[in-house]
Amino acid sequence: MTTFRHTMEDEKDGMELKQIGAITIDTKKTKIQNCVKTNLLTILTVSGVVCGGLVGYLLRQFREEKWTEREVMYVNFLGDLFLRMLKSLILPLIVSSLISAIAKLDISLSGKIAVRAIIYYFTTTVCAVIIGIILVITIKPGKMSSDDSHNQQNEGSGSRNVTTVDTLLDLVRNLFPPNLVQACTQQIRTVLIPSTNEKDINSWKIDYEYTDGTNILGLVMFSAVMGVTLAKLGEKGQYLIYFFETMSEAMMIITKWVICISPIGVMFLVASKVLEIDNPEELVGRLGMYFITVLGGIILHGFIIIPLIYLIMTRKNPIKYVGNMAQALATAFGTSSSSATLPISIKCLEENNNIDSRVARFVLPIGATINMDGTALYEAVAAIFIAQIRNIDLSLGHLVAISITATAASIGAAGIPQAGLVTMVMVLDTVGLPAEEVTLIIAVDWLLDRFRTVINVMGDAFGAGIVDHLSREELQISSNL
Ligand code: ASP
Repeated sequence: MTTFRHTMEDEKDGMELKQIGAITIDTKKTKIQNCVKTNLLTILTVSGVVCGGLVGYLLRQFREEKWTEREVMYVNFLGDLFLRMLKSLILPLIVSSLISAIAKLDISLSGKIAVRAIIYYFTTTVCAVIIGIILVITIKPGKMSSDDSHNQQNEGSGSRNVTTVDTLLDLVRNLFPPNLVQACTQQIRTVLIPSTNEKDINSWKIDYEYTDGTNILGLVMFSAVMGVTLAKLGEKGQYLIYFFETMSEAMMIITKWVICISPIGVMFLVASKVLEIDNPEELVGRLGMYFITVLGGIILHGFIIIPLIYLIMTRKNPIKYVGNMAQALATAFGTSSSSATLPISIKCLEENNNIDSRVARFVLPIGATINMDGTALYEAVAAIFIAQIRNIDLSLGHLVAISITATAASIGAAGIPQAGLVTMVMVLDTVGLPAEEVTLIIAVDWLLDRFRTVINVMGDAFGAGIVDHLSREELQISSNL
């Protein structure tokens, strides 16, 4: 009897346990389903990058002869449409969100936020440069590469003759555009015209030209001043503030729509780029060690140093923070452009990481233009790598000069594909190397550009997180007013 009762009780216990087990599995299942549901788009966008690489690789294997430019254009068509949509958002989004964000802050708080952001930008960029220099000096990738640059000299680097001072002065000039409409499409730059008998670049004739590309710095400056002024106007300024607020909300909604097609867009952008590559063997061959050095530095800086700074400053989980930015990071990889990624970065920061919109919309457009840790690291490594190939011995003074110019070159680089390659000229100049030397690294630059853009975007995002954390109380007080 007792045995029978025991068996019954055991069975009951067993069933209860099974039920609890089933409920736990169910809860786990629902949790996973919910997680997949909420992050579906992000998962798809990251998969878009991987699929793009695979599709590009398979298409390359599919036939022997090279894919023609027209065929690549067809493959890239949807990616190009995605990029055009993103780019169309930048201008209205930056202007409206910056004006409305600053108008909602009082002047002293705007100043504090700007100072905190700039201190963060400067510190992390210098860290990135130092990491790059330590790695390239220890690994010495240039000593392992043979110098066969002669057959590459005619590839054309798009570089030009300028001095570091000119590049920095152009940056300041662009802050104050004389014509706002023109600033939406063009920016100024210095051109040095060689005189026949003068070798010294400082004696050349100075001219200026307007080049295509939105002058984001100029628009950021104007919007910041406009925001401060509207805040000062008080009651009278309200109408315009409402206007820009509504516009910025509308732009965020359009951004969400564009984001819906990001998996497809990113996939085709990556696939067409893989189809286009001329020398894939360079990645493992001559430039392999250089590639690994830059990539190693970028990973060390982006995945260890900046998250550590974030952890120390905010005591929050950096891994979760990066995970919440995945959509923006995948887009940065696909587009190679921090500026084009800006709308998605703002959305991820506000909606996934709960960053105050006044901080995100203020700090991010500035960061996307001047804070480029990945680019700074790459510029330093590339210049020293080229010097190693050319057997130029670098003194400590040279290294200090490289650190300063690499920082300046990253600030001067626009948030567009391969902008860093153009500002490299400044860094090469400090070691006495001509601009044409960038041809040595062109073969792998398209891929490194993608990785450094990811770190540039990530650096901006962590910066916004830190500034938001440091300004939380003041922001709260300001909203309660
Ligand atoms: N493509 C990079 C960016 O947009 C700039 C560069 O390093 O060339 O952030």
